[in-house]
Amino acid sequence: MDILIRGGTIVTCDAHDRVVEGGSVLVRGRDIVSVGKSGDAATSGGLARVIDASGCAVIPGLVQAHVHLCQTLMRGMADDLPLLEWLRRRIWPLEAAHDEKSAAASAELGLAEAMLGGTTTILDMGTVRAHDAIFDACARSGVRAISGKAMMDRGDGVPAGLRESTRASLDESERLARTWAGTEGGRLGYAWAPRFVLSCSEDLVRGAVERARDRGEIVHTHAAEHAAEREAVRGALGDDDIAVLRRWGIAGPKAVLAHGVQLRREEGEELAREGTRVVHCPSANLKLGSGIAPIAELDRAGVVLALGADGAPCNNNLDPWVELRHAALLAKVRSGVTSLPARRALRLATTDGARALGLDGVIGSIEPGKRADLAVVRLDGVHSEPGGDVFSRLVYACTARDVRHVLVDGALIVKNGEHLRIDVPRARDRARSAARAMLARAAL
Ligand SMILES: [Zn+2]
Repeated sequence: MDILIRGGTIVTCDAHDRVVEGGSVLVRGRDIVSVGKSGDAATSGGLARVIDASGCAVIPGLVQAHVHLCQTLMRGMADDLPLLEWLRRRIWPLEAAHDEKSAAASAELGLAEAMLGGTTTILDMGTVRAHDAIFDACARSGVRAISGKAMMDRGDGVPAGLRESTRASLDESERLARTWAGTEGGRLGYAWAPRFVLSCSEDLVRGAVERARDRGEIVHTHAAEHAAEREAVRGALGDDDIAVLRRWGIAGPKAVLAHGVQLRREEGEELAREGTRVVHCPSANLKLGSGIAPIAELDRAGVVLALGADGAPCNNNLDPWVELRHAALLAKVRSGVTSLPARRALRLATTDGARALGLDGVIGSIEPGKRADLAVVRLDGVHSEPGGDVFSRLVYACTARDVRHVLVDGALIVKNGEHLRIDVPRARDRARSAARAMLARAAL
């Protein structure tokens, strides 16, 4: 049966940023078939299940282009540390203690949180092992996900449980890609994920780039995040991480770099020329004390940008609304008060996020022919009334708790704030016991 979303403010995020007051979206199968005023013949829907969106905005499902589902269990276990210490003292030992069961529990809790907040698409970096469990959780949750296991074949402070041979890392990535990419009707995809320069050999990165290219897949890594990390790369390899990654083949439209806090102007211009994507993770950059990424400058230079919450232990939420608000506010502090207005900021989490992942022909805006990845968001909370510009209300005033309904690929996944595919109380219980067991195994 068709789904008719009726009576809302449709924020299309199309090329003209069209907003339709009292509008409707008609969904047939996986696709949006029409968008217009409620009552138009094209949007009235014959035999349709009706979702009442009055008092709500209907927006494209939000894209989070950098998350670590495997780290959700580590929320609150790694605070007040800078990046490299945070990794070596807490995150890597905890990741090394994961098994299939804890990875599944971690992903399930993270997906529940992200999706209840209106996230419909993620780019996820896993840990080294147990990554089938992450894909399995993504498949069951209904999310659209591009994900890949972390690749690590060297590095100071990498525990034995995470260190792998170059060959084994490439082979396991390839096995996962063959197993999961294109499954769930194309909802799942693979990203080759060498973790960052300091944990990867040149052979590993070159191998990943080559295999990703053969398969038409994304390469996802961290870059230019923290000053001390950059310094360590310079000390070890005599150049900045961006230059090293470029030399090793990570550049261009299939390369997605998380963070970019330390980027210099000429580096931004080069990334724009190449088409390399940058994912802004404002909360994580603040919490790890990494700094404020020059997003307005990168935007002006023409870099394709996206947003992401990063992982639960460096944020500590997976809430796309917090990232939207932080992105907009921090741009004003760093680059002046007219930087990144709300209308522009929302596109980072919708159309631009989709473009960063090569999915702009499929999702990112509410237009006939695109997949029905949508969120229905209440605008009638006391914190977002009585009116004013809809973009402003969405970016500065709305919260994850305002998300009422979420559709992915035309399927209703969140209804009245309840996830229909994840039993949230059970996921929470599982996560609690899995986190305790993981912490005990890690013996920090
Ligand atoms: Zn990250």
